[in-house]
Amino acid sequence: MAPNQATTTRAATTEPPDESGRRVAIIGAGASGLAAIKCCLDEGLVPVCFERTSEFGGLWRYTDDPVEGQGSVMKSTVINVSKEMMSYSDFPAPENLPIFMHNTQVLHSHEYRTPKGLEDQRVLVIGIGNSGGDVAVELSRCSKQVFLSTRQGTWIFNRVSEMGLPLDMLLTTRFLMYLKDQVSFYLANKLVKWWLNMRMDHKLYRYSVMLMSARSWRYSNGDSGVENLQPQYDPLHQHIMVNDDMPNRIICGAVKIKSDVKQFSATGVEFQDGTKEDNIDLVVVATGYSFGFPFIDKEVIDVKENQVNLYKNVFLPDLERQTMAIIGCVQPYGAVCPVAELQCRAAVRVFKVGYINSEGKVKFWAELNENLARCQF
Ligand SMILES: Cc1cc2nc3c(=O)[nH]c(=O)nc-3n(C[C@H](O)[C@H](O)[C@H](O)COP(=O)(O)OP(=O)(O)OC[C@H]3O[C@@H](n4cnc5c(N)ncnc54)[C@H](O)[C@@H]3O)c2cc1C
Repeated sequence: MAPNQATTTRAATTEPPDESGRRVAIIGAGASGLAAIKCCLDEGLVPVCFERTSEFGGLWRYTDDPVEGQGSVMKSTVINVSKEMMSYSDFPAPENLPIFMHNTQVLHSHEYRTPKGLEDQRVLVIGIGNSGGDVAVELSRCSKQVFLSTRQGTWIFNRVSEMGLPLDMLLTTRFLMYLKDQVSFYLANKLVKWWLNMRMDHKLYRYSVMLMSARSWRYSNGDSGVENLQPQYDPLHQHIMVNDDMPNRIICGAVKIKSDVKQFSATGVEFQDGTKEDNIDLVVVATGYSFGFPFIDKEVIDVKENQVNLYKNVFLPDLERQTMAIIGCVQPYGAVCPVAELQCRAAVRVFKVGYINSEGKVKFWAELNENLARCQF
């Protein structure tokens, strides 16, 4: 495993290494890598971290210029989970920072940085994930018009929820997770759907339609046959989209929702529903990321269509000796950092044992297959 242009950072430790003096190579000094260093030190293992850039923090380390192959937040990115829920167990975010921290120090979207220089344009944003939503909202404040194209709509969650409390703090509780498991995923989805539509009826936010009057709009019940923002899938079936401003920007007409792109002309675009927009000055493609491990042999870990088979999302079930762990390769309902920390804690303990016998391997695969079967909706 030879990282490209790796800057090698050897983490200093005041703890004596465990008797074997085992060293753990950690690839990447982002939010997951940093937690991995700490957990190794806690367990007396010796971490050696390889980071290809010259800085810590991964995508949270904002840079004005995009770096090839490196994710990054935008200058205006606001974390979409609250700071306490995102913190590591022993490293709380400073009290003086806002609950939803926004970043001028660390922050994304690969080429897009700020709206500076993009004012007064007609913009098409493709993709209504978190990045697409953020870019559309931000540009809608200074552009002539933003068109936001989506294949299937989305469920929009707010950061700020009932009583002005952070949504994730209200939703990601042991009680609600327990309840979700008890009432069935189906029912939990129906409840969340009802609750989301109480705040903003997704069916009323229709593609391509200018709202003539609030009254006719309200009572049209979204049944005009025109596609609307409400997707076919249920809210908990995909990674959630968090955006407090989106409904306001749509209802003001600053962001217009459009269907999937059919084709581009020299200066315009045609959508699948047959509508066309001309004189588009800028297209922002926000259709997601693909991940992989180009520095590890495919025989060891192979990612196909953004899917990888990992036991507990961390361990490679076929490894004879458990000497490698993948951290942060998860899409949790809440924050990634605490999950990465727990994964690191588990991984370093497994490193200490190291060996998985054939019985363990069978168990790994059985559980993995069961989880995979459960994920087929
Ligand atoms: C726009 C956006 C917003 C997000 N918002 C939130 C949020 O609000 N809350 C939340 O919890 N999560 C959020 N996430 C998820 C985010 O992925 C995690 O917060 C966190 O950054 C994951 O950390 P990581 O260390 O796994 O990856 P990264 O932060 O991407 O760090 C990976 C590091 O590995 C290095 N690296 C890569 N390849 C090599 C190599 N071959 N050799 C050496 N070094 C290498 C990179 O340079 C980088 O420093 C967001 C993600 C995006 C894209």
